[in-house]
Amino acid sequence: MSTPTPASILLIYTGGTIGMIQNPETGALTNFNFDRLLQHVPEIKHFNLDIFAYAFEPPIDSSDMNPDSWSELVSIIYSNYERYDGFVILHGTDTMAFTASALSFMLEGLMKPVILTGSQLPIGALRTDGKENLLTAIEIAAAKNPDGTPIVPEVCVFFHEKLMRGNRTTKISAENFDAFESNNYPILAHSGIEINYNKHFIKPYDPNSVLVPHYAMDSNIIIFSLFPGIGPNIVTKILQNTEIKGIIFRTFGSGNAPQSPWLTEALTEATRAGKVIVNITQCSTGSVKMHLYETGCQLLDAGIISGNDSTVEAALTKLMYLLGRGLTPDAIRSEMKRSIAGEITL
Ligand code: ASP
Repeated sequence: MSTPTPASILLIYTGGTIGMIQNPETGALTNFNFDRLLQHVPEIKHFNLDIFAYAFEPPIDSSDMNPDSWSELVSIIYSNYERYDGFVILHGTDTMAFTASALSFMLEGLMKPVILTGSQLPIGALRTDGKENLLTAIEIAAAKNPDGTPIVPEVCVFFHEKLMRGNRTTKISAENFDAFESNNYPILAHSGIEINYNKHFIKPYDPNSVLVPHYAMDSNIIIFSLFPGIGPNIVTKILQNTEIKGIIFRTFGSGNAPQSPWLTEALTEATRAGKVIVNITQCSTGSVKMHLYETGCQLLDAGIISGNDSTVEAALTKLMYLLGRGLTPDAIRSEMKRSIAGEITL
């Protein structure tokens, strides 16, 4: 009987706290190189896996991530797609949810695991959470069903015992090890003594799916958040800005806004001018339902579309992706209402 070939994993290191070290002079955390990071995890050699590494040069704090870095990740994954069974991306936690969301749209037809992880403490620190996160992320990226298909053929974030659909995640803590939440979708797996997969909620494997990479993201978008007392002077000017093509409009509760005529007029004018305005609640759980209150109905009349139960990260990157594809405002509005990569519950 022949021994099965070990799964092969590509580990992509972008930067973030996991690979940082304290500068003895300033006390600030700065990046150190990937080989030194791996020296802190000798356990990696005990996996019966072929693990290869690719490092961003130089590694970056995730505050410096941008659409070009996402394109670079898409290009690395696309050009190595046939060679590897799964991908693990080491990433700073601050913008990990944005990157995970962006990749879920940019990697159309993905049928292999792409698992993002990082840590709250550097991997060299005594109480680091980085080792556990990294080792489990690798195990998940290599996990297969008895028929050889990947268990998790989608973009995910693994952090502190939880595997989550990437475009459902949000960073919720700047200090707890349990730093990410998937507020509107069940977790895909929990890791304790064993990794228990919640298979019902994981994207089903489709053998006929073909990976189509998308590289263009249009970031002519703003996130506009309401607050009680908001006035017309600045807002009207921003809504009239011709450079802006899309607006993530953060509203109250189930998608409500003040009934001030100036606001309704400015929003109506903006949608008529071709801007796509997406209503996302300021609440961290639940969904936009604009028909529930009069304060929401006026937004429907103004041509604003519901972002449903999407995270801000997913709505923003989805809009960037759709604008990047050069679709018309109406086509973008209808795509925003559809679930492209499991980012909204319909
Ligand atoms: N500032 C860091 C980053 O996002 C924080 C972290 O990795 O936890 O790159």
